[in-house]
Order: sequence, then C-alpha cells, then structure tokens
Amino acid sequence: MTAKHHAKNLSAQELGRRQFLTWAAAGCVYAGAPSMANAAKLLYPLNASKIAEKTWAVYGLPEYFTQENGGHIVNVAFIDAGDGVVVVDTGTSKRFGEALLALIQATIPNKPIIRVYNTHHHPDHVFGNQVFDASTIAATPQIIAALSRDGVAFADNLYRLLGDWMRGTEHVLPTVALESDSESIGDRTFSFTSLSGHTESDLIIRDDSTGVLFGGDLAFLSRAPTTPSANLPEWHDALDALEKMDRSVILPGHGPLDTTGESITQTRGYLTWLEASLRESVDAGLTMNEAMSVDIPEEFNNLYVVRTEFERSVVHLYRQFEDEILQEVEVTR
Ligand SMILES: [Zn+2]
Repeated sequence: MTAKHHAKNLSAQELGRRQFLTWAAAGCVYAGAPSMANAAKLLYPLNASKIAEKTWAVYGLPEYFTQENGGHIVNVAFIDAGDGVVVVDTGTSKRFGEALLALIQATIPNKPIIRVYNTHHHPDHVFGNQVFDASTIAATPQIIAALSRDGVAFADNLYRLLGDWMRGTEHVLPTVALESDSESIGDRTFSFTSLSGHTESDLIIRDDSTGVLFGGDLAFLSRAPTTPSANLPEWHDALDALEKMDRSVILPGHGPLDTTGESITQTRGYLTWLEASLRESVDAGLTMNEAMSVDIPEEFNNLYVVRTEFERSVVHLYRQFEDEILQEVEVTR
C-alpha cells in the first residue's frame, strides 16, 4: 500500500465518523464520538435512536473491523413489546452484548428480554448472544447450523482483528429454530421471510405493528456490501423479494435507516457492477491483484469502505468466476 493510498483511507474513515454522527444524532442524544480513549478503555459508545413506536436502533460505525472501533460496525435493534423486550442481532463481542444489554435496561427499565433474533450467522451480528438467555435466542435452522459450523473460525478471525475487545467471547447457538412464518411475542407479532444470498440463510423480520423491516445484511445503505458467504444470483432474488415486501422502513444491518428503499437499489446496483467487473477482469486475464485495483465507478465510490470491501470480494469470488469462465484447455504432451 502506498503512503498516498493510506492517507486517502484515513481521511475517508474520518469522513465516515463525521457522517455517522449525523445519522446517530437523529432521534437520540449522542454521548460523544468514539475515540482512541474509548479504545483504551474498551468501551462501546452505544446509543439508542428511536426509529418507530417503542423501537430503537443502535447504529454501528460505517467502518471495517479495527482495534479502535472494537467491531462497533453493525446495527442492532430492540423493541418494547409490552411484557418484555425483543432484540434483533447482538453485535460483535461479549463486551458489545454487555453494553447493549445495559443500554436496553437504561432505555426500557425493569423488563426482561423475552426474544432475541439473529438475522444471519455472521460474527458481527451474533457474538453478543452470550449475554442473553440462550432459551430466548431464535433463528432459522440453517442459521443455527451455519453458526455451529463456522462459529469457532469466526471467533478466531475476530480475535486476530480486534484483540482484547473479544476477550471471553464465544459463539452461543440460538435454541429456538424458527419454522413458522410468524410468532407473537408480548403485544407484537413478528413475521419472518427466510431468504438467502448474503449468506446461506438471511432472515428478514417484520414487526407487523410498525411495519419496520429488520433487513439484516441483504441490503446495505451508504456502505459497500460484504461478500464472504455470498451467492450472487440468490442475493439478487432476495433483493427482488425484499422490494415487494410491505414495510414502513428498512433497518439495514449496516448504514442509516432506509425510508425510501434506496438500500435495495444501491445494493443491487453494486452487486451488478461487482459481478460485471470480476467477469471483465477474468476475461482480460488479469491477476487477482490487478483485478483489485480497477477503478470503482463514481456512483459507488462514495460508499464507505468500498475499496476495502471490493478487494475482499475479489478474494472471495475471483476463483469462482475463473472456474466458471475459463475453459479447460486439453494439453497433449
Ligand atoms: Zn453479514
């Protein structure tokens, strides 16, 4: 990496923090910008932003995992459902889960957590499970199986990226396998749509009383999508399904609240370009390194962490496209 490239990344990151503060400031009192001081004390500066009746989002930073942010990069949410609280995703670490639980208890005092949903098995969404009662944690059977398979490897990877922030973190499997289309929890009914494409199982949760869709990572907003477990054709189908769903707003797993459906069009557009770019690079016989350094079109260039995620996507997907596109040549010696 050149010095110039590095400097550009830093300023993009700083810009990201500033814009994040603008989102986070909507509907909540922000306790202060995350800083190196927080990193030294390993505190997650979590804040609750009201997004609908008795519904709060906790927004993550528009960044990649770093030792400074402790993996505070994901959106989670919670809902006051009368008899108790419903939580959607639990964050990156045990420590994050503890901070989330404290925030919930400060926002909605004296109510138990009666349901926790995991939208998919990626570590930034499920590694706070540990602080919640496992008997309340629910996901699709496929999410449970995937977390059971990948949990240890995901934890190893995050320990490498985040160090001490991860201390004591282990994956905890949901014990409630969601088989039906909906369930009543407290005074609310939640509807489920089981999709795939970002991962092998992506659960969309709709709160039927507010119309809020908790979209997990099927639709990103203002931040480049991640693809370590992606199946691009299935992801496009999922976006089509998501677009047709009745909703008031979408809370994406990363990025601000989506009131217009822009997360769907943006994610679709980015994935379409990503695939075309990979195909072109394979056709042109580029190496992976060369494929990583192609220009990113202007319409996607202002997405947070776009260069980082694009480079990671080349790593995740390039071999697959090479295998698909390049013809085997019979060689007679
Ligand atoms: Zn994800």
